[in-house]
Amino acid sequence: MIFVSGCLWGKNCKYSGGNNLRENLKEKLKGEEIMLICPECLGELPTPRSPSEIEEGFDGENVICGMGKVFSRDGKDVTAEFLKGAEKVLELAKKHNPKAVYLKQGSPSCGFGLIYDGTFTGVKKAGNGITAQLLIDNGFHVIAEE
Ligand code: SF4
Repeated sequence: MIFVSGCLWGKNCKYSGGNNLRENLKEKLKGEEIMLICPECLGELPTPRSPSEIEEGFDGENVICGMGKVFSRDGKDVTAEFLKGAEKVLELAKKHNPKAVYLKQGSPSCGFGLIYDGTFTGVKKAGNGITAQLLIDNGFHVIAEE
């Protein structure tokens, strides 16, 4: 079993209602048993939705520790929804024990290695999203889509 961010597989779960389809990833994982995950959907955020970023100066690790928050572009605190979605993905991972988890870079949930910097200006910085960090903390093998 391999977990993949749903938007990378063509699922229209992105904040805009679209996806981030990566045909090359589908090709690479051909024949594998795939489970699509979308932490933001599992956190019961609607699609489409306002885009969100972890507040400036913080990352997923900080949010898990209660030291940072996630805000939507229109200023709503969506930290609880992001944490709920991450916990649900972790529950699924503990149940299915995926040998790898391919995640979408940049996302405040799925970002692995790179996340947006909290300014909503398209600038990325080093760091992990909340779900990526929680999976790493629990020993799962996380891989960035690129
Ligand atoms: S939370 Fe992850 S799977 Fe869902 S749309 Fe964002 S990057 Fe894709």
